[in-house]
Amino acid sequence: MIRDVVIVGGGTAGWMTATYLNRTFGDRVTVTVVESDRVPTIGVGEATFSTIRHFFDHLGLAERDWMPHCSASYKLGIRYQDWRAVGEHFYHPFERLPEVDGVDLADWWLALDGDVRNFGDQCFVIPELCEQQRAPRSMDGILLGENTEDQRAQFPYAYHFDAALLAGFLTTLGKERGVRHVLDDVVSVEQDDRGWITHLVTSAHGEVRGDLFVDCTGFRGLLINKTFGERFMSFADVLPNNRAVALRVPQDMANRGIEPYTTATAAPAGWIWTIPLYGRIGTGYVYSDEFCDPEEAEATLRSFAAPDQPELEANHIRMRIGRNERSWVRNCVAIGLASGFVEPLESTGIFFIQHAIEQLVRNFPDQRWDPALADTYNTRVAEVIDGVREFLVMHYVAAARNDTPYWKATKTRAVPEALAERMRLWETVLPDERNIYPHFHGFESYSWRVVLIGLGAQPHRPRPALALADTTAARAALADVPRRARRLAAGLPGCHNYLAAVNS
Ligand code: FAD
Repeated sequence: MIRDVVIVGGGTAGWMTATYLNRTFGDRVTVTVVESDRVPTIGVGEATFSTIRHFFDHLGLAERDWMPHCSASYKLGIRYQDWRAVGEHFYHPFERLPEVDGVDLADWWLALDGDVRNFGDQCFVIPELCEQQRAPRSMDGILLGENTEDQRAQFPYAYHFDAALLAGFLTTLGKERGVRHVLDDVVSVEQDDRGWITHLVTSAHGEVRGDLFVDCTGFRGLLINKTFGERFMSFADVLPNNRAVALRVPQDMANRGIEPYTTATAAPAGWIWTIPLYGRIGTGYVYSDEFCDPEEAEATLRSFAAPDQPELEANHIRMRIGRNERSWVRNCVAIGLASGFVEPLESTGIFFIQHAIEQLVRNFPDQRWDPALADTYNTRVAEVIDGVREFLVMHYVAAARNDTPYWKATKTRAVPEALAERMRLWETVLPDERNIYPHFHGFESYSWRVVLIGLGAQPHRPRPALALADTTAARAALADVPRRARRLAAGLPGCHNYLAAVNS
């Protein structure tokens, strides 16, 4: 059996993997984290995807157990600001669209209204909750419509949290639950004559032996790329943003309020994230160095997010965009930035980590090291990253914005052929489960629909069949959405008030 798992790296990937494996296998598997105190973690990664709740569920943690330790807040969706045109916005909410008479509400909306500025408010209730800064739970912690305090949301939602605090929280939790922690630098990776890793050599703690080694060393890919030389497939040809600059901006959130959403604001050479935490704002400018240098990016970010706080330290980050051809090679599995990363536009970095861990557990090897397990793992991981890559490329191609060299280039750059074909189809019909990227990648067809319409690239005409249909039920359903939204907003507490109670 595989009894000894050694994880190199103590960032979000390292500690999520350690705590998840520990919870899954208990003391039947020894988990060791080797973490340098010299090489910092990436220090960003604060917005998540709604499936993150399953991670905390798996660890047996309720929101009140971890949220106060991580300055956490709620995320009901992403607000895209200025992507269609300056001054306009839309939300990508965590909310599925219903069907009326067997037809998706978005199709009805297209037939009955079709004005892109009305889409979000007419079809979803979450935009109203976002505008009103509502929490997704009532004050006693119970989700509307439910009478148990479990984690099933009426609306799916995710979290914002402080990445450094989460890593610290998981470190303490992991150590309490039996994860071994070696605070030291790995200075060499030793292999046998087949090329399998036998042990790591650390600078002060000697050798660390194991059966399975997990590379969580971030963009370095110390084991998978530097030691094994696994090929990294860059996505730079279709996703050119390769740098970011980030700021942590302290603010009086009680006065300011907490928006329950991430904002992605289009900027001259990329976009800026705004993530409200319980206690401060996390913000950063993601850009392409083909169109902007780091000084200009920092100046743009400062004037956007913190014009009165010049003392704040900026964190400049180079991003390696793409994925390893294989993330599991011999007895090494890369997870997190060491495996692959697409820019943070839809907050998928931590989702990739969680998905990879779940796949590792599902395909966990024994001493036979059946290659089918690694092959399955590699296929699943590649499909997820490639699917999100396609989804993100669609954002830039579909965005109506076209006013700077950066945004003009998004309209002339090559598009992956499969996506180009799909986009031609979506000029006539909206995305559905059968015509989006065909493998699991986290995003359901409603997300493709919302983003495509929100960016200004909906089909040229509604489905012709709907001109012949009885529209009574559809009109009633559309009329009901804003009524429901107002009713819910009136019944839910303010996000800051709710979080203040959780933190008290
Ligand atoms: P890192 O944080 O880089 O950790 C690497 C670890 O390896 C460190 O502990 C380091 O000490 C250790 N290490 C390195 N070399 C050695 C050595 N020789 N010996 C021992 N230890 C070593 N994801 C989201 O889900 N949402 C977001 O909003 C989001 N925003 C992002 C914004 C940007 C600009 C970037 C770049 C990423 C973002 N991500 C986001 C991704 C997210 O930050 C990462 O997926 C996550 O933090 C995991 O990082 P990691 O643990 O793989 O790597």
